[in-house]
Amino acid sequence: MSAVRPLLAGVELGGTKCICILGTGPDDIRAQIAISTGSDPGTTLRRIENVLREWSAVHGGIEALGIASFGPIDLSRRSATYGFITSTPKPGWRSTDVCGPLAGAFGVPVGFDTDVNGAALAERCWGAARGLEDFAYVTVGTGVGVGLIVNGRPVHGFGHPELGHIRIARMRGDDWPGVCAFHGDCVEGLASGGAIAARAGRPADDLASDSPIWEPVTDALAQLVHTVMLATAPRRILIGGGVFTVRPELFAAVRRRLIESLQGYLNLSELIGSIEEYLVPPGLGALAGPLGALALAVEAVAGY
Ligand code: ZN
Repeated sequence: MSAVRPLLAGVELGGTKCICILGTGPDDIRAQIAISTGSDPGTTLRRIENVLREWSAVHGGIEALGIASFGPIDLSRRSATYGFITSTPKPGWRSTDVCGPLAGAFGVPVGFDTDVNGAALAERCWGAARGLEDFAYVTVGTGVGVGLIVNGRPVHGFGHPELGHIRIARMRGDDWPGVCAFHGDCVEGLASGGAIAARAGRPADDLASDSPIWEPVTDALAQLVHTVMLATAPRRILIGGGVFTVRPELFAAVRRRLIESLQGYLNLSELIGSIEEYLVPPGLGALAGPLGALALAVEAVAGY
């Protein structure tokens, strides 16, 4: 006889939409709905609360809530602004308490983390990182983010890692300035969907696969992966997000460039096995985001 799994709710707060999800896991999603993020957090959070209340009335009480949010967010439990979105450039959302109102409304354990850390934990629960204590989940979409799991836990220090914003050596001959509002040519400024669109004058989906623009994009992403490998020695790296969903051929290009970049410094075959099994797509596809919120609820049930 299998144990009854707790009913969980998740909220993925995204830059353009918030996805609420109810269920016990990917094989048992009871409800899912998207709400526009908008520029008035009070209204959005009330709408989310109403959705969760309606679901509780229909499906029974939820036992925990997970909130996976765009950032930067405050993850320090001793901080007066724990559970806040902090310095986001998104209009209306700067210094917004997103955890408090929802935690107060339901009185259940609440898991809170970045959208990419949530997605990483979902991949460990149900996807391509099952059984791993040390791995990374890279997303390349509107921005570039990295969920980093070390010793079984998402990395938290004074905040959360922001590896999408690391600076890299520029590819020889390339001096395009990049689009990051803070750094110009950081990885996100060079290789995000927004950067590709700005450089090409059209979305990444419409760009020919032999366009020369993919070369500096591939180079930047390979350098990001190089850095993550050397910094935390992950046992697997998943790369998801919109750009890789529409351009799966980027995997082969990034793997190739990564091996060139490492210059034989690591004995890859001994340490990680085949590069094809090391640098892989996520297992949950487009559901990794909302399931990330659900995975944070799982963490809350476990007492994290
Ligand atoms: Zn940046």
